[in-house]
Amino acid sequence: MILLLKNGEIYSPDYVGVADVLILNGQIAAIERGIDITCTGLEAEVRNLRGMRLTPGFIDNHVHIIGGGGEAGFYSRTPEVMLSSITECGITTVVGVIGTDGTTRHMETLLAKAKGLTHEGITAYIYTGSYELPLISLTGSTRRDLVLIEEVIGTGEVAVSDHRSSVPTVEELTRIASDTRLGGMLGGKIGVLNLHMGNGKEGFSGIFKVLKDTEIPIRHFLPTHVTRSRDLFEQSKIFATLGGTIDMTAGMNESSGFVGAVGISDAVNLCLESGISIDNVTISSDGNGSMAVFDKTGHVERLIVTKLSGLQKELKALVASGLDLSMALKPFTSNVARVFGLSAKGCLAVGRDADITILDSDMNIDSVIARGRVMVESGKATVRGTFEDHWY
Ligand SMILES: [Zn+2]
Repeated sequence: MILLLKNGEIYSPDYVGVADVLILNGQIAAIERGIDITCTGLEAEVRNLRGMRLTPGFIDNHVHIIGGGGEAGFYSRTPEVMLSSITECGITTVVGVIGTDGTTRHMETLLAKAKGLTHEGITAYIYTGSYELPLISLTGSTRRDLVLIEEVIGTGEVAVSDHRSSVPTVEELTRIASDTRLGGMLGGKIGVLNLHMGNGKEGFSGIFKVLKDTEIPIRHFLPTHVTRSRDLFEQSKIFATLGGTIDMTAGMNESSGFVGAVGISDAVNLCLESGISIDNVTISSDGNGSMAVFDKTGHVERLIVTKLSGLQKELKALVASGLDLSMALKPFTSNVARVFGLSAKGCLAVGRDADITILDSDMNIDSVIARGRVMVESGKATVRGTFEDHWY
C-alpha cells in the first residue's frame, strides 16, 4: 500500500516546511517537494493536505489501557480503553500501566491488551510492576520481564511519596532502579523507571539519594505527575537540572480539582525560564485512569476518569502561551521516543514508522496515520477497535 501526502506543512518536530510525504509499507520512504509517482505506474492513494500540519504521532507514555482507579471500591474501577479513544486524540503509541490497583489488575491482562492494540493498528508497550511493593510481574521479576518480554520497556508506575504507596525505602528504590537498568541492558532497551510522585513529605528526596549514592544514570528515572504541587514541581526542576527528564500529567491543574497544581503551560514556561531545556520534559495523559481527588482526611472526594485528549489540549495551550509548534511538540513526540529508545518513533524522517498526526489550522486533530494506515479522518476514527461497533 502506497500513500502519498501532498503539500502539508511538516514538523518533524523541527520545522521542515511544505513538502510531500511518501509512505511505503508502513514507513516513511521520502519527504520531498513535488513527489510524483505517476510515472512508476504504481497504484497509490494520494491526499492533498494543503493548509494542514503534519507532526509525529503522539507517544503517550502513561496510559491505563486496561483501566485504573478502584480507590473508592470496586465500582470505581475504570473500564478498558478502546482504540478510537486513543487514535482520535492524535496518539499512535502508548505505554500501558497498571496503577493503584495491583491486586485485581494483572500484568497478563496488560500485556494482552497491548498486543491487541498493536494488532488493531497502533503501537503499544507496557511497564512491568505496580504502585506497591513487592512489584507484580509476569515472570517473577521486573528484570526478567524487561529482558524477555518485547513489549515491556520499563518498570512502573511505582508510587513514591504518596499515601497510597508502599513507602519504598531508599534501598528498595535503588534495587528497583538497578533491576530496571540491568533488565533494559540485557533486553536491548533503555529500561525506564516510571515513578508516580504523590503529594507526600518525601518528594524527590529518596530519588536524589539514589542518584547521589549509586552509579545508576539519571536517564533511567522518569518521575511523573510532577506538577501536582508547587513544591514538588520545584524539586522536579532540580532533577531536570541534573540532566533528568520530568513527566508532566496533562490536565493536572486547579480547575480539574488539583489544588496547588501548576498548569502545564506555566510549568513548561517556568522550566524554560530556569534554563531547563524542553528536551528534559515529557507530557503524558494518565489517560483512562481515575484521578482521585482526596479530602484532608484521605477520603476520596471525587473521581474523574481522565481522557487521552489532554495531550492535544496541552499542545494547543503551549502554542497559545507563545511556544513555537516545533518546540511544543517535543514533549509529546521526540523526547518520549528518546527517553524510551524508540528509534522508529517520534520523528517524521525517512525510515521511521509512518505515525503521523495531522492538525488543522486551529490545531485540532484532523487525521491520524499509524504505521502507514489512516486511522482517523476529519477527527473521527475510520478504523475502530474490534468490538467498538459489534453489539447486538
Ligand atoms: Zn500515577
